[in-house]
Amino acid sequence: MTRGKKKSTPVIDPYLPTSGNFGYRVSRYELDIEYKVAINRLTGTATITAVTLASLRTFTLDLADTLSVTKVTVNGARPQQFRTSSGKLHIALLDVLAPGAAMTIVVRYGGAPRPIRSLWGDVGFEELNDGALVAGQPNGAQSWFPCDDHPSAKASFRLQIAAESPYRVIANGELVSRRARAGMTTWTYDLPEPTSTYLVTLQIGMYERQRLADNGVPIHAALPDRLRDNFEHDFAAQPQMMKLFVTLFGDYPLSEGYTVVVTDDDLEIPLEAQGISIFGANHCDGRGRAERLIAHELAHQWFGNSVTAKRWRHIWLHEGFACYAEWLWSENSGGRSADEWARHYHQRLANSPRDLLLADPGPRDMFDDRVYKRGAMTLHVLRRHLGDGNFFALLRDWTARYRHSTVVTDDFTGLASHYADESLRPLWDAWLYSPQLPDLDTP
Ligand SMILES: [Zn+2]
Repeated sequence: MTRGKKKSTPVIDPYLPTSGNFGYRVSRYELDIEYKVAINRLTGTATITAVTLASLRTFTLDLADTLSVTKVTVNGARPQQFRTSSGKLHIALLDVLAPGAAMTIVVRYGGAPRPIRSLWGDVGFEELNDGALVAGQPNGAQSWFPCDDHPSAKASFRLQIAAESPYRVIANGELVSRRARAGMTTWTYDLPEPTSTYLVTLQIGMYERQRLADNGVPIHAALPDRLRDNFEHDFAAQPQMMKLFVTLFGDYPLSEGYTVVVTDDDLEIPLEAQGISIFGANHCDGRGRAERLIAHELAHQWFGNSVTAKRWRHIWLHEGFACYAEWLWSENSGGRSADEWARHYHQRLANSPRDLLLADPGPRDMFDDRVYKRGAMTLHVLRRHLGDGNFFALLRDWTARYRHSTVVTDDFTGLASHYADESLRPLWDAWLYSPQLPDLDTP
């Protein structure tokens, strides 16, 4: 028996140890994809612009095993070798690239895309009854294109997608062209804002597009015609939500407005993408029950999409803030106050297991409801500490300072200290760094 020292593979994020890659930084993806809805067949070419961070002879990209790669070039030349295994595309170059060298990686690939199995269920590319969607969080991007699939790796995108002509294709950013030819329509979207791969999406369906009232930020909807009346009722408050959140959180982060997609299928949960939120038909039943979720997803455009956690352990910076936005919308639209919501959920959390550390909940609990509710309570306690003027000034400073970049919890607690007269350390220790549930009125 030999007792070898096990060589540990370096990881970017222990919550998602197999995602993300070393040695380079991507600045732009250009995807040219054809997708046939009828047979679930995707063929694509990804052109990835990157720069090396070290001298580089071999490197990897994340890509699901369901997709096969037929050709790779790097700076116009064929590499010595490429192969796919265990969710990675491995590329070995003929010559070493110097640190700081530009790389244009072109990958031709295709297959029948399907979701990735993860700790959190199926994520990524998913067929619908009559169409498809991408639910990327947290590591689903690799189910439909080769990428450096980690939120800390933001890039700009151009997404050119062809599908059968009756379908509407929605992707992130501005629709810059739409061409129909031989039964297929090619939709080209441009997304200049740096975006994490999990927030890049594709929504394909028999959708009608409509423009909603504009309160300074254009809002569009894409939905099946049969849901139109329900939508007009259930989503009526969105322009007012947008107005409120711009006032409280600062400028809407994207140049290209906001689009809400409602799928013809039911979805377990709504989800956020850059500039887009996706709801299921069950969230649009004409009874207005999804209002808090509508506020939640909209708030992610600031918290999560623009200001993004550098590592998944800081997920409360997305979910706690989006949950608090639900309470703020309630308070400002004639519903319960944020304080009433905080007390309501505090009682509920008092009966839940107290084994969760908000600042590092662990991969299995990163989407646990306690992260959402305790995160929102933490913000509420902070707000009472700072007063409304300072608290909302802090939120606007936060979204402006870290717009389209990535953050850790210390960035937030550090910034908050500038808005407080006394140390916030006891507050953070109690709410972020201890599993015990503090009393709402202390410290
Ligand atoms: Zn959320």
